[in-house]
Amino acid sequence: MLPVSIKVDENKLKIIWDDKSESVIKLANLRRFCPCALCDEEKSKQSSSYIPIYSAEELSITSIKPVGNYALGIFWKDEHNTGIYDYNYLIKLSE
Ligand SMILES: [Zn+2]
Repeated sequence: MLPVSIKVDENKLKIIWDDKSESVIKLANLRRFCPCALCDEEKSKQSSSYIPIYSAEELSITSIKPVGNYALGIFWKDEHNTGIYDYNYLIKLSE
């Protein structure tokens, strides 16, 4: 599946896929489940009941770039940009 439209709408990321299905993901969840090695390590130290608190900068997307034809690289305003979200992962996050 490929995205035909990607947009940030208030505090959500909305993706429309080429089969016309739609994924809507809260930016806080997108950030929380950032798949990069750095965030992964952070997460492994936290308990499952931990609720992260993010600054406005950590929840603002400055740009989104396709990575190959399987993923999106998301650039956050606090300059965190190592998260590569593959399409299946994005679909999972929207559920
Ligand atoms: Zn990360």
